[in-house]
Amino acid sequence: MIEKKSVVEGSDRHIINSINVRIPGILESQYITIENGKISQIRSMNRLDCQSENTIDFAGDWVSLGGIDLQINGGLGLAFPDLTANDNDKLTEICQFLWEQGIDGFCPTIVTTSIEKIQRSLSFLNSFTPPKSAAQILGVHLEGPFLNPAKRGAHPAEYLLPLTLDNVKRVLGDYAHLVKIITLAPELDPTGEVIPYLTSLGIIVSLGHSQATAPQATEAFKQGATMVTHACNAMPPLHHREPGLLGAALVYPGVQCGVIVDGQHIDPTMLQILLRAGQGDRGLFLVSDALAPLGLPDGVYPWDEREIEVKQGTARLADGTLSGTTLPLLVGVQNLVKWGLCDVETAINLAVRSPRLAINIPDIAVGQPANLLRWHLDPATQALSWSRLDLLPNSSKIVFG
Ligand SMILES: [Zn+2]
Repeated sequence: MIEKKSVVEGSDRHIINSINVRIPGILESQYITIENGKISQIRSMNRLDCQSENTIDFAGDWVSLGGIDLQINGGLGLAFPDLTANDNDKLTEICQFLWEQGIDGFCPTIVTTSIEKIQRSLSFLNSFTPPKSAAQILGVHLEGPFLNPAKRGAHPAEYLLPLTLDNVKRVLGDYAHLVKIITLAPELDPTGEVIPYLTSLGIIVSLGHSQATAPQATEAFKQGATMVTHACNAMPPLHHREPGLLGAALVYPGVQCGVIVDGQHIDPTMLQILLRAGQGDRGLFLVSDALAPLGLPDGVYPWDEREIEVKQGTARLADGTLSGTTLPLLVGVQNLVKWGLCDVETAINLAVRSPRLAINIPDIAVGQPANLLRWHLDPATQALSWSRLDLLPNSSKIVFG
């Protein structure tokens, strides 16, 4: 832990200058000024910039905003579809836990369950506000219930619904404003009405748990779908004569695919193929797809009316069906670097910048709160580590936690 004096004496302005900073995607070393907890300047370094009283030398380490997790099903033992009005403290704890895991914001993901339970979770989330210094809620991800029964994976068959406008309205109820992303199987809607309806409400449509052919998926992208949920998982594999949803997604301009990077859901070689086809962080972003035992040790845990077994961070039902992970999002970044699948900058961007682009929120920029991560690559071991840079405008310390 490094502590450093950082208050300008005799002033109520709290200014920190950072030199030799690398921002993923920018070639030259950067000089960043943080004033009262906000970024007030980002520019290229020049020869006059040097170490002084209120300056941190990042020595070429990377700086980024925190990660964004667009698919996370729960944590610390709580599954988001089980949220009730009594879970205020638990959800607060989860938001703080995610913050400590380097996450700035997330989309609590509600997997297929009854409309009653979906509505109960949405009702609670509608009244919930995370505290400061905690991961913020960026809207809900509804993963289901409009999934193809043949590709439902671990989603319970009894709660899957036909994809009709009426059913969509019943599921959203009065909380459409709260829903950021919905995962659906486009081949279930032959009318072509649902995707334009959802996008008209500002909801991002992500294709997944689907058997869509390439033409069906392309039609869905034309209608406004812009994302793919856990690419490769719960969809037909890439086949040279049947490219399917995955093939269509990788070549359709502007579509972004979520990927799970635990090494089990997708083989690292396939990840490399996706990274090349999707042009790295342009067409892909990382998701944790973390389940309720996130933050708890490996073991057997309840999951809806069934059980999952978690081994080394990967969760499976008793019959072996993959059902998610308990790996924090940023472990995926470290995995990509450890496995030599991409450079450090692309790996960081996949968890930080790409998910922001996918839901149209800004990346690092002047005026933003300086919720920053510092990333360091150990030259000897090639291990990538990160720490959250906590800037405390009302104290005299910068703490690298
Ligand atoms: Zn899924």
